[in-house]
Amino acid sequence: MINTTTQHYEQMLGLTAPWTVSDIDLDIENLRLSIRISVPRGAKLPCPVCNRICNKSDHREERTWRHLDAMQFETIINCKVPRINCPEHGIKTVNVPWADNYSRFTFLFERFAIDVLESAKNITSAKKLLKLSWRQIHRIQERAVERGMSRRKKEKIIHVGIDEKNFLKGHSYASILNDLNEGRVLDVVEGRTEESAKTLLNIGLSDEQKKQVEAIAMDMWDAFMSASGEILPQADIVHDKYHVAGYLGKAVDSVRKKENSYFLKAGVDTLKGSKYLWLANPDNLSKDAKKKFREFALDELQVGRAWAIKESFRHFWFYKYKRSAERFFKQWYFWATHSKLKPIIDSARTLKRHYDGIVAYLKHHITNAVSEGINSKIQSIKANARGFRNFQNYRIAILFHCGKLNLYP
Ligand SMILES: [Zn+2]
Repeated sequence: MINTTTQHYEQMLGLTAPWTVSDIDLDIENLRLSIRISVPRGAKLPCPVCNRICNKSDHREERTWRHLDAMQFETIINCKVPRINCPEHGIKTVNVPWADNYSRFTFLFERFAIDVLESAKNITSAKKLLKLSWRQIHRIQERAVERGMSRRKKEKIIHVGIDEKNFLKGHSYASILNDLNEGRVLDVVEGRTEESAKTLLNIGLSDEQKKQVEAIAMDMWDAFMSASGEILPQADIVHDKYHVAGYLGKAVDSVRKKENSYFLKAGVDTLKGSKYLWLANPDNLSKDAKKKFREFALDELQVGRAWAIKESFRHFWFYKYKRSAERFFKQWYFWATHSKLKPIIDSARTLKRHYDGIVAYLKHHITNAVSEGINSKIQSIKANARGFRNFQNYRIAILFHCGKLNLYP
């Protein structure tokens, strides 16, 4: 009986001679299964540096590793790891076949923990299932990400996107670099300054990759523009069309707010509760909302005019030729800047200042929204942010879930 059980664990842990399971102890009271592994006296083992087969000299004090639970029993591996005496490298502790150096978990446990963490909706339930502390969870994720990052190939990356994210309830910012073609996060740094963007481009891309980037998508954000100009001088800057739409949407909303409060003072509630109608994509409005929207006299309302200007800008993105796009932009700009609506005039000027980056979309057709899947994952990472005591944990969690890394030991 003991023999089949020891063989079972020897196979499961991938043990070969001289490693053997020498004892199995079932502690029913504490629901604990201890598996003792040892190496017989006089055994020979490879040097961890040069692999030369050497004589065992002595052993370290006993260490433990957490293994996959068997039924409801927490399973622990115990071993006094042997040291060898290498003629070249001296006394060295050998590598154990069931775990990485420095890990307190067996390979199989780490693989299982990675699977659980990848698929769990929230980290708290994963933590409970794995019976680990926050510190242990972070450590497993960190080691997985380290492995994955070191295995990353330095293949050509043509389109990247840089974006800012706030974390820790909006008190601080992080900048994130995405590979737009592969839909993966390359790296994350703290802050959203020019310096942090430069660091990000330098650590997220190898020197060779930096030369190969053809275009970089970003918001109309000076810090990112200067950083990219310096680190990726050959890459075209493409202003993200969703950010542009966001600017125009904000302008429409300030026009609505002002007009609404003016109306309310005069006892008119035409615009009350209408915020969503002006910001939504008209195609996505419900039947009732569409009906309500049609009742607005667009020409007579300031917000109606602002909305028409914003909506009209969508045509810009469909132009094929730079020259016709430019003609459209000039007409649109004239209309916007003569609207007498300050927020609209301001955003039209912002767009004009960034025209090169806006028209570059027609050449590269990239936006940061390619990584929409990534954004929703990052949203849920943030929602589960209990236990992120610092930026480093946040970075590791993003790379763990969105880096498309090979995480297994
Ligand atoms: Zn050696």
